[in-house]
Amino acid sequence: MTLHVHSDIASLTPYVPGKPIEELQRELGLSRVIKLASNENPIGPSPKALAVLSEGAATLHRYPDGGAFRLREAMADRWKVTPDHIILGNGSDEILGLLARTFLAPGDEAVMADQTFVIYKMEVTAAHGKAVTVPLRQWRHDLPAMAEAITPRTRLLFLCNPNNPTGSMVSSGEVAQLLSRIPEQVIVVFDEAYFEYVRRSDFPEAMAYVKQGRNAIVLRTFSKIYGLAGLRIGYGVTTPEITGLLNRVRPPFNANSIAQRAALAALGDDEHVAKSRAVNQAGMEQLIKGLSAFGFTPIPSEANFLYLDIGRDGRQVFEALLRQGVIIRHIEGRMVRVTIGQAEENEAFLIALARVMQAG
Ligand SMILES: *Cc1c(COP(=O)(O)O)cnc(C)c1O
Repeated sequence: MTLHVHSDIASLTPYVPGKPIEELQRELGLSRVIKLASNENPIGPSPKALAVLSEGAATLHRYPDGGAFRLREAMADRWKVTPDHIILGNGSDEILGLLARTFLAPGDEAVMADQTFVIYKMEVTAAHGKAVTVPLRQWRHDLPAMAEAITPRTRLLFLCNPNNPTGSMVSSGEVAQLLSRIPEQVIVVFDEAYFEYVRRSDFPEAMAYVKQGRNAIVLRTFSKIYGLAGLRIGYGVTTPEITGLLNRVRPPFNANSIAQRAALAALGDDEHVAKSRAVNQAGMEQLIKGLSAFGFTPIPSEANFLYLDIGRDGRQVFEALLRQGVIIRHIEGRMVRVTIGQAEENEAFLIALARVMQAG
């Protein structure tokens, strides 16, 4: 039957998520599977979030608060802005889509790195915009080259910091230089999904640009350190003018009621965040040490994953590890990404990797 579809849509390939644990168990009849593929928090959800989940159950027949009043108030308080600076999303992924649909007319351009988070290109293309990609330089965003890539058609510039999949970051000085070089009408999208894991003190204060009234948005999520990926909730902090525009295309009940409740509780769970950071730090040291025994040196990471050259075809290593019950992520060529897990998971990964390397 005849079907009309725009070539922009036909050109896309469906996003391939990390393989679910249950799927691998089913396929290989394995009882124990370790998933280090999707940068999830290995210690699980915030206990404070878990404690409030059932409170929302009795009112599930009601639509959520479309304005997310309580959650936005709490976030505004935390980030020292007014609530009209905050927009919620069904995951911060959704806000990426809202940005593309709101600000890109067909043919308008969005500048982004290659490699970076694959959703940017997907959303920009789906909105009939043009993704302008700028290669990384030594595994980091090449900010001068990104500034050069700006044209009168540029509407958005995506800056994933720390970057997924590399884990690398750009500093406050580098970002200040970038912003001094680009026209003010370009909206800078600071995707800070891994913000809470960052250790370096020269990490940019992107939120300060928003507070100055710059055309910028800071995206954060409850999917990573807060351990709530399954609930789908993320947020953006941006100027009231930009939230006002995004709200014109935002589906009214995009943040569900249980997620709003859980996010509110998780936001106040500093203990869980601190513990998650500590587990990540220890796991990072363990993995770097273990990997160095094979002669592998991951790219320095400020996030909860490591990106490395595995020395041979990454897809083969990925598949061989699957047969050992360990799920990682093949990115391209010899490059793989491994989420930092709990100590036993990291150990199991290193043992499985040793077997794979020995088998040749
Ligand atoms: C995980 C991730 C997100 C967001 O995830 P949501 O679950 O949609 O909130 C956004 N950006 C990057 C770079 C990520 O890695």
